[in-house]
Amino acid sequence: MSSNRQPSSIGTKDQLTGDGEPCPLCQIPQGEVLAEFQSWKLTRTKTMKGHRERLMLFYKEHVRTLDEGSIGEAYLLLAQAGAKFFSYAERWAIFEPVYATVPDHWHRVASDLDERAQDYGQILKTPRMIIDNHDGTIVRAYPEKNEDTPGP
Ligand SMILES: [Zn+2]
Repeated sequence: MSSNRQPSSIGTKDQLTGDGEPCPLCQIPQGEVLAEFQSWKLTRTKTMKGHRERLMLFYKEHVRTLDEGSIGEAYLLLAQAGAKFFSYAERWAIFEPVYATVPDHWHRVASDLDERAQDYGQILKTPRMIIDNHDGTIVRAYPEKNEDTPGP
């Protein structure tokens, strides 16, 4: 049974990041929250990086890791919210946090797949779940293996 949903640390008001800075996710004002769920909040990301829409879902408490059930819930909520917020796009994606700036606070970022966006090169290097708005399919995409392979 994995019904123990206790967070691994106590969520206090002023969590610090590894650099001793206050956690930016814990500091997000309520006015910037687009949607709130029992354990989650949905906001726009601080930097849009050239996307028309870029969202972040984060756990309400300052925890680094979550159990699989909670992670599944996060993807489900983000998929539902994204269907609405990314309805203008053909496809959009939820990204694995390999380039996360706040790795100590569990969150996932989603954006459209505009090739003109500033971070499109980084998108291609990030494991991601691509949701197709037309046929509703979800496919996983991984970075190109031989992208940075040095010559012989
Ligand atoms: Zn935090």
